Amino acid sequence: MPVKGLGTYDDGNVFARILRGEIPCRRVHEDAHALAFHDIAPQAPVHVLVIPKGRYVSLADFAATAPAEEIAGFWRAVARVAQMLELEAPGYRVLTNMGEDAGQEVPHFHVHIFGGRRLGRMLSEQQVGH
Ligand code: AMP
Repeated sequence: MPVKGLGTYDDGNVFARILRGEIPCRRVHEDAHALAFHDIAPQAPVHVLVIPKGRYVSLADFAATAPAEEIAGFWRAVARVAQMLELEAPGYRVLTNMGEDAGQEVPHFHVHIFGGRRLGRMLSEQQVGH
């Protein structure tokens, strides 16, 4: 079922190509449900992306259509990756961009893990507004 604003899943998206091994990535972790790799344009000392292996365009799509086992496996992998990166004690932030207002660029569901420094407010002053 297409997600409003994002359309149906596009097998040519960059993360689908990474999953197929057509584009390299700096892999951090891989298991049955998820692949984690360093973001190509890091916005913090640690900036890692975690993606499910299935074909989901967004969080909305993933939450609505993924089997429960895949959802559990994915979120366990997110926390596991943060732990592997030694971010658990200092802390970290998990973020997903969903759709146009959030500026989602890649139409394959993913979460960002940020860490390695004090991350400040959730949105920059510039972004806060109505
Ligand atoms: P979003 O705006 O949430 O869709 O984020 C997409 C993210 O993917 C951005 O932070 C990009 O820097 C990152 N990205 C795009 N292409 C690649 C790639 N080939 N390898 C790793 N990260 C990528």
